[in-house]
Amino acid sequence: MPSTTALQAPSAGAPFEVAQVPVRDLRDDDILIDIAFAGICHSDIHQVREEWGKAIFPMTPGHEIAGTVSAVGAGVTKHKVGDRVGVGCMVDSCGECEYCKDGEEQYCTKGAVMTYNGTGYDGEETKGGYSQQVAVSERFVCRIPDGIELDEAAPLLCAGITTWAPLQRWGVGPGSKVAVVGLGGLGHMGVKFAAALGADVTVLSRTDAKKDDSVALGASAHIATSDPAALKGLRSSFDVILNTVSADLDADMYIKLLKPLGVFVNVGLPPSAWSIRPGSVISGSRVVAGSNIGGIQATQDMLDFCAEKGIGATIETISADQVDDAYEKVVAGDVRYRYVIDTSTITA
Ligand code: NAP
Ligand code: ZN
Repeated sequence: MPSTTALQAPSAGAPFEVAQVPVRDLRDDDILIDIAFAGICHSDIHQVREEWGKAIFPMTPGHEIAGTVSAVGAGVTKHKVGDRVGVGCMVDSCGECEYCKDGEEQYCTKGAVMTYNGTGYDGEETKGGYSQQVAVSERFVCRIPDGIELDEAAPLLCAGITTWAPLQRWGVGPGSKVAVVGLGGLGHMGVKFAAALGADVTVLSRTDAKKDDSVALGASAHIATSDPAALKGLRSSFDVILNTVSADLDADMYIKLLKPLGVFVNVGLPPSAWSIRPGSVISGSRVVAGSNIGGIQATQDMLDFCAEKGIGATIETISADQVDDAYEKVVAGDVRYRYVIDTSTITA
């Protein structure tokens, strides 16, 4: 089997090392991508550190992939050599169930195959984007419009679609009052999208450190959640609260900030549980919802919207030898707002 140069974690929480990892021989519907940039999502950290349970090692993470098509299988029609493309969190699904037919491949009844830390329908372990190449079925490869640089496009493939999908589902637009909790990789995209959709956006962040950034990203207000009095003053204020926090959360406190019939939609995925008082959702008939990434057509729609509006992720580009350090910084909330690995620096 051919191989490529990649970063891999040999075991849970161990530092990354450079290794040769397999890239499968191209199937009829496969696209070989020369990866240019890979974003670092907090989900990568949760998985490398086994915070979501047992994982598959050695692991090459990365589900925010942007690059160029370097070869195509005999039956490929969607993309050609030289096209600028991206891959997100999924690389396969059954294609036949009601959810796949509906463009919601993430709910595939057979189980969507995750880009890494997963097992393909062929039994092979999947390897992600901290790598120079990957082979992916054309059904899971999106076109990156010319208007978006590849480095700023990479995080759109997870942080972008994961915040875009719930804003669409819950009807955010002009007149909506939206709060985004946690200004990190997902949160900063949530602010950009909600503002571009015409909503009035408030950022709820732990401190005031990111206040100027919130405004620059399109928010009208930035509130430090470390000040309980400030939060009390926001009771019954928002139609939609998008929670992106990667750690323990007093969800009950945030639910009280919803207007009647408002929706608290959660995308943050720490292992810890919440405690919610029944009265907090019953008063105002409030909704507590979740949202899991987004389908492939929705991902393409989001990329096209970004090109039309001139939106990309706000990034800090790093080299392969900085990834371990970047993980520490992400956990500390010290990233503005997504680390992106220049994969040309992954060398033996
Ligand atoms: P991130 O860049 O680390 O951002 C998380 C933000 O949460 C931080 O910037 C920080 O914002 C806030 N935060 C961090 N630690 C906190 C703490 N102890 N208490 C309160 N707030 C804290 O992470 P991300 O890549 O955006 O991912 C966020 C979460 O979404 C992760 O759990 C990830 O696994 C999950 N995720 C879910 C999906 C999905 O499909 N639902 C997809 C991708 C990722 P402030 O500094 O502003 O407070
Ligand atoms: Zn992600």
